[in-house]
Amino acid sequence: MNELAQRDVTLIWHPAAQMKDYETLPPIVVDHAKGVWLYDVEGKKYLDIISSWWCNLFGHCNPIINDAIKEQLDKLEHVIFANFSNEPAIKLAEALLKIMPSRIKKFHFNDNGSSAVEAALKMCFQYHAQTGHPERQKFMCLSEGYHGETIGALSVGSMDLYAKMYKPMMMENIHVEAPDCFRCPYGKDREHCECECFAHAEKAFESHARETAAIIVEPLLQGSAGMRVYPPLYLKKLRKLCDETGVLLIADEIATGFGRTGRMFACDHAGISPDVMTISKGLTGGYLPMSITCVSQEIYDAFYADWDTGRAFVHSHTFAGNPLAAAAALAVQHIFRTQPIFENATVNAKWLTKRMSDELLPHPNVGEIRHIGLIHAFELVADKKTREPLPEKNRTGYAVYKKALENGLLLRPIGDVLYFNPPLNITQLELDEAIKLAKKSLYEVLPAK
Ligand SMILES: *Cc1c(COP(=O)(O)O)cnc(C)c1O
Repeated sequence: MNELAQRDVTLIWHPAAQMKDYETLPPIVVDHAKGVWLYDVEGKKYLDIISSWWCNLFGHCNPIINDAIKEQLDKLEHVIFANFSNEPAIKLAEALLKIMPSRIKKFHFNDNGSSAVEAALKMCFQYHAQTGHPERQKFMCLSEGYHGETIGALSVGSMDLYAKMYKPMMMENIHVEAPDCFRCPYGKDREHCECECFAHAEKAFESHARETAAIIVEPLLQGSAGMRVYPPLYLKKLRKLCDETGVLLIADEIATGFGRTGRMFACDHAGISPDVMTISKGLTGGYLPMSITCVSQEIYDAFYADWDTGRAFVHSHTFAGNPLAAAAALAVQHIFRTQPIFENATVNAKWLTKRMSDELLPHPNVGEIRHIGLIHAFELVADKKTREPLPEKNRTGYAVYKKALENGLLLRPIGDVLYFNPPLNITQLELDEAIKLAKKSLYEVLPAK
């Protein structure tokens, strides 16, 4: 362990970690970065193929975003957002309105993904209370869903890994069995199905729609569940069912927003608009913490009244609307408008699917390559035919992760699912390098006979 890493573990409690693991895999202290490359304090470089927790959109130290923040820094670093405002935040709301799904008209600024989800839940609850439906107090969510790790957000998530310990602290919600296309119980595949699994949602709505304020979903991609991809038809059916029953639809686009799925938002693939949309991660290009809970005019109007009616949405975060973060987010929108980001990403995504299928799919433990946009995941299994998982205690995904780090690739696993979620402007050369390193690491951990 180098000296800086030693000082780190002396004081710092890292996120999502068993700190004891840091005895054998000490923290990698990054000194600087450029594009997809991270350089640690010992001079070793790592290809960051996961956009540093899915947020980096156009490479590290992107000159356009860097300049935008520097320019803003000497004007205004932060100002209270209650009764005060700042030009970058105003311009950002205007820019976002132009790219949002049709129902979205108002923007409530928060400062991280979980806080945007909390605000969304509270808004939906209060909306019904103030429009004659105080009985609508529950939420629906999909199994294996992930919406952040504060108590409210955990309550609409279904992943035991994050939630099990805290169950007694959480709200009781209605968990709908999510699509599972890799292990489809109906024996279909995601390109040729009618979303037979939507029957679970229909059943839940039949029993619980009247007491439900909203359903929250990660549209098309359940990221933390292992990059599980499901068809747009599911969202179309869900939008229709919500409209018929008065249940609000919250699309959590924190991971999928800003081009990750090949369109600006995942909802765009289905041609639907949610009533509420949460965005964060890529919003600032992955530079600074900012999130927004984006809502329909109808929801906004249910709160608009004289103060003494008590209808206001009293919810705030200190760093809401931060001008530095807004400046970064504006630069991101500028890049989308002035560079052929989608054109290149679409070409590269197609190429990546082919290359990954050629290089990784032949391995006897690679179950499938699933993909949407530039996000490409491969799931390691014990048996390719039965899709039986590897024994959990082997921590195979973690072993590949460690091997990949040795080889200079940051390939963070979700259980036994490994994935690429690169910045949208990554080149084919860089992708090729990542595939080579991933393949090498995989075969070193699981030598094929
Ligand atoms: C990352 C994520 C969140 C939580 O965001 P934080 O900023 O980490 O709190 C919520 N929902 C989804 C879909 C995410 O990917």
